[in-house]
Formats: sequence, structure tokens, C-alpha cells
Amino acid sequence: MNISQATALRAVKRAPEQAVALVERLIKRPLFGCQMCGHCILQDTAFICPMSCPKGLRDGPCGGTDMYGMCETDPTMPCVWLRIYERAERMGRMDRLMKLQDDLDWRREGSSEWIPLLKRVVSRGRSLNQDERTAQ
Ligand code: SF4
Repeated sequence: MNISQATALRAVKRAPEQAVALVERLIKRPLFGCQMCGHCILQDTAFICPMSCPKGLRDGPCGGTDMYGMCETDPTMPCVWLRIYERAERMGRMDRLMKLQDDLDWRREGSSEWIPLLKRVVSRGRSLNQDERTAQ
């Protein structure tokens, strides 16, 4: 197999994942301002994407807001983390907000988060089924 055939084969293998990523982008971008970081933490940030922070902070505010809660990098926008905090409090999701987030793996940028999520759900379902079978 030459290099161009190998490249074509790789592209064909990645096509389904890229199609899912495209659908995910088309849905999440308008809804959440998603930037396809590849490791979604919306469920922990009261469904406000932390990647809309101009500094890209995923684990809380930088502390540089002005007295009105406006961002120091972009004074035209309220601090993303202030919005996250207020909404998490309203939604009763403070426990999730306090969770420490893993470092972002930039190699996953642009890839779908739905595929690993689906794999986790399927494997959890399988292990639950196995637990039920061993309990019988
Ligand atoms: S956390 Fe990442 S995947 Fe989730 S909405 Fe924000 S940019 Fe998109």
C-alpha cells in the first residue's frame, strides 16, 4: 500500500467520526457557543460553555473582573464564570461546579465528545448487565 492509498484509507475510516463531530458542532455551537474542545464539561458548568472565557479557563474565574462582574480581557462581556456560578446556584448544581476538572487534552480539539460518551454509556450498560447476571 502506498502513501496516498494509506491516507485515503485513513480518511475513510475517520469519516463516520467526522460526520458525528459535524452534527455535534451544528447543534452545540448555536445552543452553547461550543468550540469543540473535545472534552465537554457542560454538565458541570450549568450548561454554559467555559470555553467562551477569553482566557479559556475551565476551572473557575481568573479573579480579574471589574466591580460590575465584567471580563478584564473583553470588558463588553460579563465574566463567563460569574454567569456559570449564578446559574449553577439557581439550578442547585453547585456540587457539580465544585468538581475539579482534568486538564484539557488539546489533541482532541475539534473531535466529537459524543462518541466517547456513547462508548461510556454502552460499557456501563454492559457492566450493569454482567452484574445482574452474576447476581442471579
Ligand atoms: S466544553 Fe468543549 S465540547 Fe463542551 S460545549 Fe464547551 S467547547 Fe463544546
